[in-house]
Amino acid sequence: MHVCVLGAGVVGLATAWALSEAGCEVTIIDGASGPGQGASAGNGAQLSYNFVAPLASPDTLLHLPAMLLEPNGPLRIKPRLDLDFLRWGVGFLRASTGRMVRETTAAQLALAALSQRETMAVERDAAIGFYRKVAGKLVVYRHPATFATARRQAEAQRGIGAAQMVLDPAACLAQEPGLRIRAADLQGGVFTPSEELGDCAAFCDRLAGRLRERNSVTFIWDARVTPVLRDGQLVAVQAGAREIGADHFVLSLGSGARDFAKACGFYLPIQAMKGYSITVRPRNPAGELRHSVTDADRKIVFAPLAHESGAVIRVAGNADFVGEDRGVDPVRLEAIRKGAREALDVDLESDPLGWAGLRPITPDSRPIIGASPVAGLFLNTGHGGLGWTLACGSARLATELLLGGTPSVEPGWFSLAR
Ligand SMILES: Cc1cc2nc3c(=O)[nH]c(=O)nc-3n(C[C@H](O)[C@H](O)[C@H](O)COP(=O)(O)OP(=O)(O)OC[C@H]3O[C@@H](n4cnc5c(N)ncnc54)[C@H](O)[C@@H]3O)c2cc1C
Repeated sequence: MHVCVLGAGVVGLATAWALSEAGCEVTIIDGASGPGQGASAGNGAQLSYNFVAPLASPDTLLHLPAMLLEPNGPLRIKPRLDLDFLRWGVGFLRASTGRMVRETTAAQLALAALSQRETMAVERDAAIGFYRKVAGKLVVYRHPATFATARRQAEAQRGIGAAQMVLDPAACLAQEPGLRIRAADLQGGVFTPSEELGDCAAFCDRLAGRLRERNSVTFIWDARVTPVLRDGQLVAVQAGAREIGADHFVLSLGSGARDFAKACGFYLPIQAMKGYSITVRPRNPAGELRHSVTDADRKIVFAPLAHESGAVIRVAGNADFVGEDRGVDPVRLEAIRKGAREALDVDLESDPLGWAGLRPITPDSRPIIGASPVAGLFLNTGHGGLGWTLACGSARLATELLLGGTPSVEPGWFSLAR
């Protein structure tokens, strides 16, 4: 069977690997000149298998006005008359109920558990390193209300999820001596020892390298794709000057997936949620982090990556609904730099330019994995802020559904029609 994977971000590459391992002939097409150049390469590096809460929730709705009014705060929405965005917003409101949050959390935890196993399997079977580490994750809270909620959540998860420890401010700083936050500015934290991190750019580059070694795999770069439909069926894609046919097409174009779906005649509920990152060097060994850290109220994450060229810390955050513009806005980048300056002892000049990427997010934050309304087109996209965490699990589920295997997690949770 010949499958054409549209998109060579982390989701497309993981899918191509799973399909190739299952014996398919695979063609991968991307408009960029190499792998992982959309939302994947500069992401927050967190393999966040236990922190899967959706963006839409009663809590988010409650705090939305304050978050939007905060000058250079973590969330920004550019007002615009865009019917797709309005439709997505209605979906977001519908997803903001307690019942939906519980269902999404259950679905994402199941997919994340599958993904944790599958990511390790890819690491082993492809024999690639990507600085994966079981580093543990410390989430620190500055406000009494958010810490109280986190403490309740940790207590509710006791015995059902991963082991977690609730820490007071002094214990947070003892757990992570590299943090430069004063104990007086913290209410406390939650530490989850089993959480992992890894460099998604290295994963994409090295997995693409392994795929390139296979005769049954073809890459086509620098080719934007548009659909070629015949009698309502996707029979080929126009990739630059070439028309590429296949038995099946898998849509993994990240934030570009919505436009492709629109050209096929159906609505895909995905918006671009722009985020920023910097990758900076600690000033000295005491400034290195042991764990990944989330500064929850500032919605910023810090991940230590042990590159061969020396230790670096990836600092990532911001959730901007500003359309498809991928440019680095210096004002928004400054919010990330400020977050790093105030929490870490790092050399900000080691990355003066920063990076921005567009997270492809659905209203309920779950990816869409399954059939589309168009014959020949299969969906594996919309992974929002957890695409690195969920890529290998999603690839496994997509491959099972496409090739008729028994699904490892409940597919209805991720169908377009859910
Ligand atoms: C700042 C930031 C921090 C993040 N932190 C984390 C984290 O810590 N942990 C985590 O799990 N996730 C994180 N994420 C989310 C994760 O990075 C994304 O969910 C993931 O990268 C999405 O992968 P993708 O393959 O679906 O999309 P992309 O990586 O965007 O890939 C899509 C590809 O499609 C191509 N494309 C698009 N349209 C077309 C077209 N018409 N023709 C041809 N090619 C096209 C693009 O060139 C691109 O290569 C973060 C994201 C950001 C932005």
